[in-house]
Parts: sequence; C-alpha cells; structure tokens
Amino acid sequence: MPKLANESDLQYKRRVIDIKSASFCGAKWFNATIWLGSGQTTSCHHPLPHQVSVEEVTVNPKALHNTREKKNDRALMQDGLRPAGCEYCWKIEDMYKDPKYAGVDTGTPISDRVYKTVIYDDGDLNEAFNTSPEQDINLQTLEIAFDRTCQFACSYCNPAFSSTWVKDIRRNGGYTNLVSDGRNHFTHEHDSSQLYTITDVNPYVEAFFKWWETDLHKTLKELRITGGEPLMSGYTWRLIDWFQANRGASKTRLAINSNLGFEQDKLERLLDATEGIELDLYTSNESIGRHAIYIRDGLDWDQWTSNLVYLLDGKRLRGLHVMCTINALCLLSLSEFLWKIVELKKKYGKDAINFSLNILRFPSFQSPLVLPIEFRQQAAGELVRFHLANTQILHEFEMNQVKRLVDYLQEVDTPHSGALSKEILQRDFKNFYEQYDQRRGKNFRETFPQLVDWYNTL
Ligand code: SF4
Repeated sequence: MPKLANESDLQYKRRVIDIKSASFCGAKWFNATIWLGSGQTTSCHHPLPHQVSVEEVTVNPKALHNTREKKNDRALMQDGLRPAGCEYCWKIEDMYKDPKYAGVDTGTPISDRVYKTVIYDDGDLNEAFNTSPEQDINLQTLEIAFDRTCQFACSYCNPAFSSTWVKDIRRNGGYTNLVSDGRNHFTHEHDSSQLYTITDVNPYVEAFFKWWETDLHKTLKELRITGGEPLMSGYTWRLIDWFQANRGASKTRLAINSNLGFEQDKLERLLDATEGIELDLYTSNESIGRHAIYIRDGLDWDQWTSNLVYLLDGKRLRGLHVMCTINALCLLSLSEFLWKIVELKKKYGKDAINFSLNILRFPSFQSPLVLPIEFRQQAAGELVRFHLANTQILHEFEMNQVKRLVDYLQEVDTPHSGALSKEILQRDFKNFYEQYDQRRGKNFRETFPQLVDWYNTL
C-alpha cells in the first residue's frame, strides 16, 4: 500500500524511505525509460541516459533495465550513498543547506525520489531494498520508445526524436548561426538516436519483445509508449497485435503518447485491439489554430480537435491528457487554448480530459522568457483570470501548474542557471525562426503579427 490516509509526503518519506537509507529511490529498481532505437536507458528523466550492452541483452533481455550502472547505483542507495547521476534530487534536498537560508524555517525539501517511490507497494519496496543489487529486478512501470518515426517536426523538437526533422536536416543542412544551448539539436541528423534502419533487425527491440512475451507482460503495471509518434511505428502495432491475440493475458495498463495527426481509423484500430485493457492517451498542444500549426509543424488543427472529440465521445479511455510545452510562441493563445479544454471538461466531465503545463527550458532561445516583459505580463494576467474563473472545474494539480506558470512568467528571468544573456537568446530566436520559415514554407510575421515590431528589432 503506498501512502496511508492523511499521511503527508514528509511522513511517508520518514516511514518508508528514510528507514531504508538516506538515498533510497524506488525508481532505480522498478521504473525505466528505454530508447530501443539508441539502446539507451535511464531510471527516470533526470539522470542522463546510458548505453545498454547489446551483447548482454542478446542473452538476457532483462539487461535492458538491469544494467551494470543501475546495479551499481542500487548498491550505493542500499548503503545510503548518492549516485552521481541523480544530482537533480540531491540538489533539491541540499537546497536549504545554503547559508543564505540560515535561520529561515524552510521545512524539509521533498525531491522527486519521494514521488517516484510512493507509487509502489511498501512490501515490494522492502523486498527490493533487501535484494542483492546484482539480482535482476522486474519492472513495474516502463516508458519505451521503439524508434523516432514521426510525421511532425515541431519547432521545439529535434532529429533525435523525429524522422521528419531528420529529413529537414538531410535536405537543407544544419541550422546555422545559433550559439546558445540546444544549438546542436538542430545542426546534425543525430544518427546515434537510431542505430538500426527500419529494415535491420534491432537487437534491443527483439530483446524487449522476448522479455515482454515471456515475463514482463505478467509483472508490468504500466507501459507507456512514446516516440517519435508511436502509432507510426510498426513495432507499436506489433505490440498492439499481441494484446489483441492474447486478450486477458496481461493486466498491464497501457499509455500512449500520440500527436493525433492521422485519420480516425487508426484510433479505431487502437481502441478495438486494446479492448479490456486500461488505456490512457497523452497528446500534445499548447496554442490555437494557426499558432499551433506554426509551432507543431505537421499538425492539422481540425483533425487534432476532431480526434479529441472522437476519443471523448467513445468514453473508452481511462484518461485523455493534453501535455502543453510552454514555449515563447504559445503564450499568445495559451489561455484561449486552456479555455477550450475547459469547454470539453464541462461537456464530458472534469476527469475526462486533463492538462499539464511543462515549461520549456531547452533550447533556451525558445523559452517563454525570451519575450519582452509586456507579453509575459499579458499572458500571466490572462492565466490568472482563467484560473479564477475555473476553480470548480479544474483539478488541484492543474490549478497549481497554472499558478506556477504565472509566477514563472512574472518572476523568473533566465531559463536555467547556465543560460546565456537574453540578447543572445533573442538573436538565436530570430536566427532560428528565419531559417524555420524558409525550410517549412511558414511565415512568422503573418502568424504572429503582435510580435512583429519586437521581432524586427532583433
Ligand atoms: S533519486 Fe531522483 S533522479 Fe535518481 S532515479 Fe530517483 S527520482 Fe530519479
């Protein structure tokens, strides 16, 4: 059983985590993201991915998750020591050790390792902690990407995650004159993200299916498929066909990240094949109409909205989630977009559709913080009004994210501590979108007339 009734995060941490060790985290045992195209894995999104040995997975498919690096990290956590790759959590936990907080009552900082542990049963966590770190562990939650096949090439994505982005770079060469972080996202084809062509046998994919068919489908509680666009990948359909052919054999909840950029029959096929399986669908968008079409190159706005309605009408999903990547250009219609989600909530129910606001930090020249303060203030004001008008229909986590974004737009000045000056980021912003317009047949000035005076000065 995860948290007790009325137990706070801190109480949970003391009861379940701290009694094990000062650095224990359930994700190191039970969670993984695995990119089968590149053969890399990580225990959550914070540590950098590391390479899985192809020789090992060929004889032992569980090595996709149980790598030497993770086993070493588990041993450190059992001894209360901190794996270096988990720096994100240690920084948060150490934040208030800074002398500037001396004498301030700051409470105890809760880092992500608490949230990534609380989802697992206490008994499973105890067993994991007491198991030899050399032993292979069965995953409970897994995010997997089969390949980078995708028909979109969104401005904030890059060739590591989209085959259409690869085509842009192959046809037109890398983007030039970018100097800030993230520039290398746009300068080459990222061949290391896709070690095998679509006609090669990919030993990582084969290892995954071997593990899935023999074992993993019995123990895994949640499988989230990401991409690229998963519904464009033949491997996703191979897995969906497995569900269809083995109805009832697996209780694994399925979640799919999809851009919803296709005809309805593909969704029909997905829903049919996964009948009886709990299914969540995650899709992305954060602005309206032509703004969305500009930012998410490849998107058909009408098709995206009608696919949303189709999924909501079908009432077949466990949840429909809209992930908003908060970048500079979406601020001009973000609140209008969120109002549309609220309209759908009113029609289909508060739980039928949710949103999350993920603030873009890289590449920092696309961060909302490159915009002049008046645009940020205007967006913040619209979001405050949106929040106040919808307190009954929004979930607490949605309201918290809106509030956090308002604070961010009003208070924060740099996208992250290592970012270059705003002038440099703004110059990269213009250099990028001038090239993007030429390559993609788009027109920044026509799409965002409100920004033209400022844009012309960059
Ligand atoms: S300790 Fe933090 S960074 Fe490391 S796996 Fe857990 S949640 Fe991720």
